[in-house]
Order: sequence, then C-alpha cells, then structure tokens
Amino acid sequence: MDKVLVTGGAGYIGSHACKVLKAAGFEPVTYDNLVTGWRDAVRFGPFEEGDLADRARLDRVFATHRPVAVMHFAALSQVGESMTDPGRYWRNNVLGSLTLIEAACAAGCLDFVFSSTCATYGEQDGVVLTEDSAQHPINAYGGSKRAIEDILRDFSASHGLRHVIFRYFNVAGADPEAEVGEFHQPETHLVPLMLDAIAGKRPALTIYGTDYDTPDGTCIRDYVHVMDLVEAHVLGLGWLRAGKGNRVFNLGTGHGFSVRQVISASGHVTNREVPFVEGPRRPGDCTRLVSGSSRAMAELGWQPHRSTLPQMIADAWRWHQSGHYDR
Ligand code: UDP
Repeated sequence: MDKVLVTGGAGYIGSHACKVLKAAGFEPVTYDNLVTGWRDAVRFGPFEEGDLADRARLDRVFATHRPVAVMHFAALSQVGESMTDPGRYWRNNVLGSLTLIEAACAAGCLDFVFSSTCATYGEQDGVVLTEDSAQHPINAYGGSKRAIEDILRDFSASHGLRHVIFRYFNVAGADPEAEVGEFHQPETHLVPLMLDAIAGKRPALTIYGTDYDTPDGTCIRDYVHVMDLVEAHVLGLGWLRAGKGNRVFNLGTGHGFSVRQVISASGHVTNREVPFVEGPRRPGDCTRLVSGSSRAMAELGWQPHRSTLPQMIADAWRWHQSGHYDR
C-alpha cells in the first residue's frame, strides 16, 4: 500500500485527511510534534512523533516509510497569536516547512500537497478572491503561509518538486461518524466556541465587531466542511500522481455568511439558545473573505456537497456531543 506522509496528522484537518486517505487506499503516516495535535486523533495509520525542524528525524522517517507523497498540514494557525508573537510563526511555519521540503527533495519524495490559506490574500473588500488575486496578507500567519508557497515554487524550479497548493477559506464541521473532530487548546474558532457556549461549557460567545461594512455589521466568511476539504486533498494527490503539474486551488464554496448568520443557523440546528455578547473587533480580522472556487470544481471535479451551514454545524455538534470531545 502506498504511504503518504501527513504532517500535522494529529490535528483537526490532518486527522480527517488521514481518514479519507485510508479510505482511498493509502496508508497515512502521521508526523506530528503534538504541540497542538492529539495522540488519540491518530487512528488511521502509523504515528511518528517529531518536529518539522528536526531534519535528522525527518530523514529517518522518509527512509523508514518511503512515502510516495507529502501532505503538509502542520502549522501554527492562530491569526491573533501571530500578531503578538510573529517570530514563533515565521520560525515554526517557514523554517519548519523549509526543513521538510529539503528533506522531501533529498528523499526523492517529490509530490507535495500544501495547506495554505485565504489569509494570504489579506484585505480586499468587495472582491471575490480567485487564485490569481494579489496576495497581501495582513497578519503573520498569512505572511508565513505565503512565504512557504514561494519556497515551493523555488524548489519546483531547482529540484523538480511537484506541488498542489490549497488555499482554505474557513474550515468547519467534523467527521460525520465523529471518529475525529475539531479540538484546539486554546480554542479561537467561531463554530467550536459557539457550540461550547450553547452547551454551557463556556460563558457567552463574543461577537468580534459589529461595526463592519456588511449588511448586519459582522464579518463575512466562506465556510467549507472539513470532509469536503480533505476530499479535495485526495483529488489533489491524484492530480499530482497523474503528472498534471503545479497548481493552486482555493477551497471554499463561493458563499459568504456573517457571524450573526452562523449564530442563527446554530440555534436552529441545535434547537438551543446561543448565548452571545457583542464585543470589539479582533485585530487582524478581514471584513469579508469569500472564495472564487470554480477552479477546484472545474479542474479537480471537486464537489463540496456537505458544505452547507446546517450540515457543518450538525456534524460539529454531533462530534461536540460525543465522548471523544472531552479531553
Ligand atoms: N469570531 C467571533 N467570535 C469568536 C471567534 C470568531 O466573532 O469568538 C468571528 C471572527 O471575527 C471571524 C469569524 O468569526 O469573523 C471566523 O473566525 P475564526 O477565528 O473561526 O476564523 P478566521 O476567519 O479567523 O480564520
């Protein structure tokens, strides 16, 4: 069975990727330092504990498993923290990824799927963001991801590294079978914080800013179901293995929802009150981030059929209510 090295396979998106890779006939090998990941989320293949910056460890893992490709999810991903501690983001995300890319090239593992972000586009209000939109990140998280995209392009030219770059919009939801799901410590994301508030595990959700230039004053995001997102990665892997070359794809639905709309949908799905208060803006937040995702649909045949707000919230809620959630 062909193996795929999944960095960050113990994290939210990486663990879902391992599940769909296994279902697609690959053996996912998780490489994770467990700083933000969870050992018990590694359920679908072998686990190798290690840090991206540890070149010797990476070399051993490539030699042991001989993966046919890398899916690189491991990263620090909190926008707010990246504003107060940018050095941590540049060191971990950029230097760590550079070390991984060099190790992959040295091992001759040249198919590389990279998890990037719409945060690389930055603030471009009123514009539907396509893969050709300019990239002007406004936080260190987005800056670090854009830098890694540049590194991939350079190593393509120098070493023949083949890459698919996915720029995610807002990922939500969970495995419908609730084997894996979203759990960050600390949690900063809207949907899990809201479900915690609904379940009484936290005080009210705070809406970060109600004075944005949007119809209801709150930020607009394009939410994509994590299962749809990782299905796109398997399609991206197939794209590379078919020799189709380097490509960037946005992963979103093209539909934006405000924070208030997400709150309202959550109330309907869970049939509970959503306790919330209105607060000030969070530094680093863009007003509106909505994808032009037609490229992934047209070229990869990607169909984000689970990415409706009610489905994402229902699946996240099922995970939230499962025994696995309480760590
Ligand atoms: N948000 C909020 N309250 C929270 C967390 C998030 O109002 O406690 C808002 C945030 O301002 C953004 C949206 O919800 O407009 C999604 O934020 P999240 O942190 O989930 O993802 P991001 O867009 O930062 O990647």
